Amino acid sequence: MAFSLKENVTREYLKKCVRCGQCRYVCPVLAEAGRESASPRGKVYLAGLMQSGEVKPGPGPDSILSLCLTCGACTAECPSGLPVDRIITAARALSAEVRPYSPGRLIFRHLFSSQHLIGRIPGFTAVLRRMTALATGLSTGRPARSRIPLRCLPENKKPLIRVGYFLGCATYYLLPEVAESVVGVLRHLGCEVVVPPAYCCGLPLEVAGEADSARKLLERNRRLFKSFSLDALVTDCSSCSYHLTEKEFGLHSQPVYEFSEFLVKVLNPPVPGRELAAAVIACHEPCHLRYGRKLQDPIRQVVGIIPGAKVAKIPGGSACCGGGGTFSIRHRDLSAGILRQCTQRIKSSGARMVATVCPSCTIQITGSLKSSGIPVCHPAQLIHQSYGLTGRQQDKNKHGQTGKHEK
Ligand code: SF4
Ligand code: SF4
Repeated sequence: MAFSLKENVTREYLKKCVRCGQCRYVCPVLAEAGRESASPRGKVYLAGLMQSGEVKPGPGPDSILSLCLTCGACTAECPSGLPVDRIITAARALSAEVRPYSPGRLIFRHLFSSQHLIGRIPGFTAVLRRMTALATGLSTGRPARSRIPLRCLPENKKPLIRVGYFLGCATYYLLPEVAESVVGVLRHLGCEVVVPPAYCCGLPLEVAGEADSARKLLERNRRLFKSFSLDALVTDCSSCSYHLTEKEFGLHSQPVYEFSEFLVKVLNPPVPGRELAAAVIACHEPCHLRYGRKLQDPIRQVVGIIPGAKVAKIPGGSACCGGGGTFSIRHRDLSAGILRQCTQRIKSSGARMVATVCPSCTIQITGSLKSSGIPVCHPAQLIHQSYGLTGRQQDKNKHGQTGKHEK
């Protein structure tokens, strides 16, 4: 069930915030904005006022509540155990309930609620890809679905395990090469890979306060994935994995894993054959992996098995990239400042390459590091290359294909 300000958060509950200020030290938005209203505890206080009716939802509270990346750093830090990011999201939901049909909300809701509606708007995805290419230098090809069949058999062996690949929206449209590498590596390691035409996981809607629409997407995805007999679900995106595990998607029968987590915990992959030349790699841990999933090592562990790869230590650890869904559009300057901090740390690590597991982080960091010539990739792409699979993928797809998508 969605976390609701009306049902889960009482005034008594919010008194658990003792205003200690611990959350202030870890909030990237506060560090950049430098004003108390942007602080996590300020937004918790505002949520309390909205819950009691002392403050009515409206543009003022909305703009304060929008000052959050839902990174979860404050929640991880709070000594009272308050789920600060979820309280902020629940307060946004209260605003959405009061003004459910504003034009912006309607467009946003319909774009994410319909299965790949974005792709049906003529020219829209081409423009999106072009804009991404201009900002980042990444050349993104056709969307992943046209490149990957519904069902891919493992290479030359009986399947060890039947895996459902939850292919999220951003990878689908903007990073199709990542999707190809994920499928290629899983097949190489003995998995049969099923790639159902998934709906958005629902996280963008949930954090925008559209809890009902997010819940409907989750149910549709649940029905879709249940129709295949899968042993596990894998996603290349830490945010999808965070949202799906939070909502207990496929609990027990189809556990959900982030790609590098799956490799480390389930497949225990053999050391690849090929060395990656001059690979000093910084492993950027996205917030939803670190704070949301509380996973800290899988990227480093996967990168660490690649011959020749040296993991660079990021001074102070990974910092938030400032993406946060629409945050980077609505608060461009703040987002740019947060991103600068993140990439400065990466640069000072001496890395010649970055590995991360979030499409949004990939796009943000790639754009910022473009002039430094430091590429950003998914660990699946590195492993794919190291197993000598890159360049062979099209042939493999032809041979391993057992079904086509209707789209
Ligand atoms: S860390 Fe928790 S208790 Fe302390 S001010 Fe922040 S929200 Fe309140
Ligand atoms: S979730 Fe992140 S951005 Fe939002 S208030 Fe907490 S620390 Fe700040």
